[in-house]
Amino acid sequence: MSEPLLRVRDLDVRYGDAQALWDVAIEVHEGETVCVVGPNGAGKSTLVNTVAGIHPAHGGRISVRGVDITRLRGHRVCGHGVVIVPEGRRIFPRMTVLDNLVLGAYRKGARRAHRASLAGVYEIFPRLAERVGQLAGSLSGGEQQMVAIGRALMAQPRLLLLDEPSLGLAPVLVDEVYDAIGRINGLGVSVVVVEQDVRRALAIASRAYLLGEGRVVLSGPADALRDSAEVRRSVLGL
Ligand code: ATP
Repeated sequence: MSEPLLRVRDLDVRYGDAQALWDVAIEVHEGETVCVVGPNGAGKSTLVNTVAGIHPAHGGRISVRGVDITRLRGHRVCGHGVVIVPEGRRIFPRMTVLDNLVLGAYRKGARRAHRASLAGVYEIFPRLAERVGQLAGSLSGGEQQMVAIGRALMAQPRLLLLDEPSLGLAPVLVDEVYDAIGRINGLGVSVVVVEQDVRRALAIASRAYLLGEGRVVLSGPADALRDSAEVRRSVLGL
């Protein structure tokens, strides 16, 4: 079988003396949507932040198509096509929608292609095309999430890491954001989604990982996880 797009092996992550992840292993293949679910504090954000080079790995290996990226910082990880939409969006509220989007195209290749990328973002999020000159801080939460995802798309990712994309959004906007994630995946971008809305994440993903207290406790097809006793107990509260 060919090398997966993303392979994480034996990953240990610490915050000072406190260990947040132990021996974590995940894989994402080309074109897949994979979700990571788990209770609060299980280590989901830590996992995607470490893959994205925002937080350092203490041990283990992270590779993209076989190339070791374990020690790379965020902007270099982005150069390998792995781009994160962080929890809380982190957009620049006093800048316009357009300026926020263009910031995502800072990689050399992405910069050259930024007009075509912008057109692609507006096709996925027509609302943003109508609001290009508006200050990002004046948008609704859902629209801000669209800006954050759009900015990540401007970097021309092969793998998009989405940390809690539905957090704080009205249900109708959650639908819109998830619909867009599905279309982005349809364009060939692989997706890892970390979600507190477990049902939603399992519905969009083909495979899933359940994290508990910093370890992978279960993985497999999303359907199988949805029906598993562990998921029902630890994150669905059933
Ligand atoms: P949530 O759904 O609440 O965001 P999570 O599954 O994303 O949870 P993380 O935020 O990755 O979990 O946290 C994993 C563990 O690491 C927790 O015990 C948390 O307290 C700890 N942790 C996270 N960030 C830091 C930090 N900056 N400094 C110290 N400990 C941290």
